[in-house]
Amino acid sequence: MVLATRRHDHAAAHARPERPGDVRYPRGVPDAASAARIGAEDAPDRLLTAELLSIGTELTAGETRDTNAGEIARSLTVLGVRVGRIQALPDDLSTVGRALGDGLDRAGLVVCTGGLGPTPDDLTREAIAEVCGEQPIVDPALEAWLRELWARRGMPFPKLNLKQAWLISSATPIPNDNGTAPGWWVDRPDGRLIVALPGPPREMRPMWDGWVLPRLAERGLGREVEIRTLRLFGIGESQAAERLGDAFLRTANPIVATYARQDAVDVRIAAVPDRERGQTAADVAAEAEAAVVERLGEHVWARGATTWQEAIATELGRLGWRLATVETGTGGSLVALLSGLPHLARAEVLGATDLDPGALASAARQAAGVDVAVAVRAAERGGDTAVSVAVATADDVHRERRVAFLGGVQGGHRAGLAAADVLLRWLRRRQV
Ligand code: ATP
Ligand code: MG
Repeated sequence: MVLATRRHDHAAAHARPERPGDVRYPRGVPDAASAARIGAEDAPDRLLTAELLSIGTELTAGETRDTNAGEIARSLTVLGVRVGRIQALPDDLSTVGRALGDGLDRAGLVVCTGGLGPTPDDLTREAIAEVCGEQPIVDPALEAWLRELWARRGMPFPKLNLKQAWLISSATPIPNDNGTAPGWWVDRPDGRLIVALPGPPREMRPMWDGWVLPRLAERGLGREVEIRTLRLFGIGESQAAERLGDAFLRTANPIVATYARQDAVDVRIAAVPDRERGQTAADVAAEAEAAVVERLGEHVWARGATTWQEAIATELGRLGWRLATVETGTGGSLVALLSGLPHLARAEVLGATDLDPGALASAARQAAGVDVAVAVRAAERGGDTAVSVAVATADDVHRERRVAFLGGVQGGHRAGLAAADVLLRWLRRRQV
């Protein structure tokens, strides 16, 4: 109750009179139809490009990993905003100022995180003020809010923190419910935008998702984009790229690219509408997807961000089955892949043995009292890994052999993937 009241006051303290710049943008988060209207894609002030700055010497010194920019980039990309650049910068006024200015020359939106703390080395506000040619002043509402945070704890207000109440006249404060650093939303006269958020992810994330994104949507953001990912197994990235062909991988729309991940080779299709051919983004993506499936279909095991655990869970759920696993020579890679699988009743990791996987799977199935068991045996052979997999049910033992690329830990990892692949394909063929 107390919390709710405080939040309410906090929001009220941050409410500011509308400035002339505000009326350009329709109020309220638009529905799809009005988004299309507001967002006529050729509207001159629609944000289509962004650059991201991660500010803090701890980032350039390698002490902190920049996770903020990747998260923000991902959320902008799926909305059809092209992120042209991500940079990490030290706490240096001229470096940050120059990067801001250059970013604004190239992109409609520059988002920075970090450097909003109270100490003299936190310089993001100074840099923004300089780029905008404005003087920061202490905002009375922000100051009152900050003072209240300390007063509530019965502590004297540290002078240093007054800096966090700064504003410039073109900035709107972004409320921070999890810290003392409000963000800044800065409208440039030419319609471009700077957004500054604090560095700590637990402060940055709710501000980005809850405050900034809805306002960017009102403002007109991105373009219709359709992103599809096909997840492949049993083929290397270069081989997949070869089958797709150079021309296919170099088109401007859709953009098709391959990525070698730990658990799959992903083919990612990103499409925007093709006005000349009268195609929506989904049409363009569907056409490309069909072409990928034609060339690589037998290797596609999932779509989107589906994991092995999720794909196998779907099949076990469909059959109403529980699973047991046994692995030898894999370093436990199969159970690692399936960890969290609710249908997994029992998982064994054995040292190297030459026991027959069919016998191992049958024994594990019976011991666990489940419907299906998978066993995998991996053994290094001439620099690669020989993989033997068996899937056992009450009425069947299915066996497959594969060769996994490389030995050692890599080979063991791939043996676990091969077992998951054999199991998934087998489950998909199985009728209830
Ligand atoms: P605060 O006033 O809360 O300190 P701030 O904006 O000054 O906010 P920084 O001092 O730049 O934030 O960073 C504070 C902490 O946030 C860092 O020590 C680090 O743990 C984390 N952090 C900062 N930038 C990033 C980033 N780009 N990615 C992930 N974590 C970050
Ligand atoms: Mg700080």
